[in-house]
Amino acid sequence: MPSKVVEIDLSRQEVREFSIDSRPWLGGRGLAVKLFTDRADPGCDPLSADNVLVAAVSAITGTTAPTAGRGHIVFKSPLTGAIGSSNSGGRWGKILKSAGYDALVIKGASSNPVYILVTDQGKDLAERVSLRPAEELWGKSVPEVSDLLAGRHGQDCSVLATGPAGEKLVRFASLMNEKNRAYGRGGPGAVLGAKRVKAIVVKGSAKTGVAEPERFKDAVEQTRHIMKAQPITKRVLRDLGTAGLVHLINEMRMLPRRNFQDCIHDSDLIDNISGEAISRTILERAGGCFSCPILCQRHTRVGGKSGEGPEFETAVLMGPLLDIYDLEAITLGNYRANELGLDTMSLGGTLACAAELFEREAITPADAGGIALRFGEASLYPEIVEKIGKREGIGDLLAEGSLRLAERFEHPEAAMQVKGLEIPAYDPRGMMAQALGYMTSPTGACHLRGGYSIALAFFGGIREVPRFSVRQAAMTCKNQQDLGIIQDSLGICRFIGYATGAEHWARIYGAAIGEEVSRAELEQAAERIASLERLFNLRAGFSRKDDDLPARFKTEAISIGRRDRIISEADRERMLDDYYQVRGWDREGVPRPELQERLSIK
Ligand code: SF4
Repeated sequence: MPSKVVEIDLSRQEVREFSIDSRPWLGGRGLAVKLFTDRADPGCDPLSADNVLVAAVSAITGTTAPTAGRGHIVFKSPLTGAIGSSNSGGRWGKILKSAGYDALVIKGASSNPVYILVTDQGKDLAERVSLRPAEELWGKSVPEVSDLLAGRHGQDCSVLATGPAGEKLVRFASLMNEKNRAYGRGGPGAVLGAKRVKAIVVKGSAKTGVAEPERFKDAVEQTRHIMKAQPITKRVLRDLGTAGLVHLINEMRMLPRRNFQDCIHDSDLIDNISGEAISRTILERAGGCFSCPILCQRHTRVGGKSGEGPEFETAVLMGPLLDIYDLEAITLGNYRANELGLDTMSLGGTLACAAELFEREAITPADAGGIALRFGEASLYPEIVEKIGKREGIGDLLAEGSLRLAERFEHPEAAMQVKGLEIPAYDPRGMMAQALGYMTSPTGACHLRGGYSIALAFFGGIREVPRFSVRQAAMTCKNQQDLGIIQDSLGICRFIGYATGAEHWARIYGAAIGEEVSRAELEQAAERIASLERLFNLRAGFSRKDDDLPARFKTEAISIGRRDRIISEADRERMLDDYYQVRGWDREGVPRPELQERLSIK
């Protein structure tokens, strides 16, 4: 399956095109991992010209397959030093495909601010892919730069932009497409900021063709039928957005509070941040990414401002994690974070770490420049978000992320992170497979790259997977990780992926490329991609000891049902041994030579 790649060397100001066989990698995440690991030095400084950023889509991107418009970005993360990997909806991925490319590779660094324009217009490559000066765009917010570039290149283009946070090299700066859809985790905005690239504009109108239209149509119809029969994809996400999970995760006693010190919430307060409350009070309309009938996006209005969000993760991590239950303050903080280009998950996790350090008097009021970094201080958002996004005052330290902040104040145990990436809004003590997912995710604590095992709770499989089974955790975690890799690589959304299953997507992908593709082939591709990501991290200096959780989760119990729950060191050892074994890795987590041979990776 030939995929078309455009590679831009910013240092040399050179552009070239080539083709690559993407079938072993599917597309999206897999294709990006292949292109990235072929080029990036695992030991490179992520904020140097040596880092490489790859964006990729798949053979089904831009077709009528539901949600098939997502893009995937891979880079070395300035927050973690491990492989960075981030996925987003919106339209940018779809329009990259319409401009004629399956992948975009960015190497080197520009000496002056530039933006990249990729179009399907022009006779030669230099006309279709160009570097444009961006001095006048530098310093602008995400909406400002998006509007300016859409005004210049037409409303049918799509803009992927870094905000002031990326320019200032905030280690958790996001890349935003369509203003509010984030490639959020791990700091891709800082990687582009370091390369002096303000934005990547894509513009094109080509329709994605499929090899066998009738077979493709049948497979898509079948998938839509299943989707309509599943309440989550049929109605719940549209009615409540992802914050519709708040009450469910709270009932499971996994909704974190006060920097994961407990999971107990006042029942009246918790409703303030729920999907039900958002729909009741601030929702203007539901919206969707390209070709998505689910429509989980929340277009909201608060305090005279319109924007998007909050989603579940933001509502919790900028909310109860800081002991804040004020929906208006959270939403306005979310809006400003999007404008500055900040990952709201790491933002919340870092602020919660700071609040704990402040409470322990490790950070003094003088350190904080007079800002009350206390738990429960909803009024701190406007000022602190601004300071982080612009690296001003205490914001300069917070811009380094929770681990570096906690180390700076000599309490590394206060950072709730894995490999430097802040933990999502599901307490790992509430589900062994999710805990293992955080430990073994190639990108640090990410529920999406680490295997979204908790999704089994809302897609109905939780009874078959006991939450507290150490024995079953490894296989559950690996299966969820591999399913996620298939979804990321085909460029489809988690929600439809879980409602349907890999066999449906094997049919759709097979019809698109005109070949027979089995579920087993997709699963083997996922194993190939997971092991190649692991090899990159091993070469970057990570090892078994880094597949770990903060001490809090091993020593401070939370009460679930009538039992106190921790992840003991023995649980961790057992789960890691089992996980490495089911992956075909040795006891240190190194993919065995025979596995590398079988998967054709090195
Ligand atoms: S379900 Fe939500 S996030 Fe997923 S593609 Fe649809 S609108 Fe986008």
